[in-house]
Amino acid sequence: MAIVKADAYGHGGIVITKTLSKLGIRRFGVATIQEGVALREAGIQEEIIILGGQFPEQLADLVHFQLTPVISNVDIVEHLVPLVKNLPRPYPVHIKVDTGMARLGLAPQSISSLLQSNDFAQSLVLQCIMTHLADADNENTENTHGQVRVFQQMVDQLKKKGLPLPLLSVANTAGILFHPTSHFDIVRPGLMLFGYPPAPRGDLAVELKPVMRLTTNIVQIRTVEPHQPLSYNGIFKTKRKSRIAVLPIGYANGYSRRLSNKGAVLVGKTRAPIVGRICMDMMLIDITDLPDVQQGDEAVLLGNQGDRMITALDLASWQDTVPYEVLCNLGPRINRVYVSKE
Ligand SMILES: *Cc1c(COP(=O)(O)O)cnc(C)c1O
Repeated sequence: MAIVKADAYGHGGIVITKTLSKLGIRRFGVATIQEGVALREAGIQEEIIILGGQFPEQLADLVHFQLTPVISNVDIVEHLVPLVKNLPRPYPVHIKVDTGMARLGLAPQSISSLLQSNDFAQSLVLQCIMTHLADADNENTENTHGQVRVFQQMVDQLKKKGLPLPLLSVANTAGILFHPTSHFDIVRPGLMLFGYPPAPRGDLAVELKPVMRLTTNIVQIRTVEPHQPLSYNGIFKTKRKSRIAVLPIGYANGYSRRLSNKGAVLVGKTRAPIVGRICMDMMLIDITDLPDVQQGDEAVLLGNQGDRMITALDLASWQDTVPYEVLCNLGPRINRVYVSKE
């Protein structure tokens, strides 16, 4: 199941989903019904699973667009059954069980009674039971082993009661990369599809290649006298006569303001520091030491330029977050260009 929520982690949900579908992926996970509807309206016909919770008033859309809910709350079954009980075939659903994340999910011991309830048995068909790992990127594997154990015990209980077993699914990216015992029938990669592990680690079993580059071009270069405060609030003051380049990208594009005076971009195949506050639509970089850099030159905010590279892991570490947030913040104002190798 390819996870393409949050606009495919900022990469463009429709194009990414269509591309993966061409490569043979038959199941897609998104967070919300709205995300699922957007994929359907773009013509995607594969199975679309709604991983997040659902509100009763959204269920008509869910059924209309043939989206598959992940049930993590018994109430939702009561609201769903009247909408699907007259359909020619039982409606497919997944169930989420909470094995230690303490976010969404039914208690493991409540699954068998739900499956045996009349409502469920008559109108719904269980395709998959899943759980979500809370700590699989931790080098200490104890919590993950505990979650897998709880999940396996639940499966054993269902077997003992003679209930037919659906497909089983546990692993996110970190589970796939670091915990073979969490793989079961369906794995649910999100971040790794886009070329990143959750955190830098030396022990990756597969080579991941970042999918996205984020580039802009220098819109203006100015020479600034020493002691000149730059941008809002003057949090950077030039120490010397400086060449400062203006980049037409800012926090409204999803490049975090927390990188003010902190981040760097690649220009002229070198890292140039961001100076002063990042604005809504612009930011400044110091190119005093790069005399060959000209107006119009490419600046790379994410990805490689020549053999230099800035990764989403770098951007995450500079602003104390995870590569997930760096990628999915990149907003709709950024023009996405897809390069095909065919
Ligand atoms: C987001 C999500 C995933 C994907 O997680 P990654 O760490 O990006 O691989 C898998 N399963 C569920 C339920 C999710 O919400």
